[in-house]
Amino acid sequence: MTWTAEMKRQFQAKRKDRLKSLGLCVDCGKFPAKTGHVLCESCTEERRERYRRSQAKKLVMDAFNDVKNVDLIVAKAEKIAQLRRWSA
Ligand SMILES: [Zn+2]
Repeated sequence: MTWTAEMKRQFQAKRKDRLKSLGLCVDCGKFPAKTGHVLCESCTEERRERYRRSQAKKLVMDAFNDVKNVDLIVAKAEKIAQLRRWSA
C-alpha cells in the first residue's frame, strides 16, 4: 500500500486528535501537554528555539542578499546622500 499525501494528512490529523483528547503533547506524544496548550514543555521550548533560529537565519540571509546586490546598496546610499543634501 502506498501512502498518498492525503492519507498522511488524515493519519496526522487523527493522531493529533487522539493525543489531544488524552491530554498528551501532539508533537512528541510522550509528555502531558501544558494546561491550555497542545504541546509539552520541552516541545514548546524546542519550537521556540527553532523559530528563533529561523528568524536569525532570515536576518543573515537578508543581509547576505543585500551584500550581493551591490547596485542596490549604491542606489540606497545615493538616495540617502540626496536626502541629506536636501535636508541640510
Ligand atoms: Zn512534546
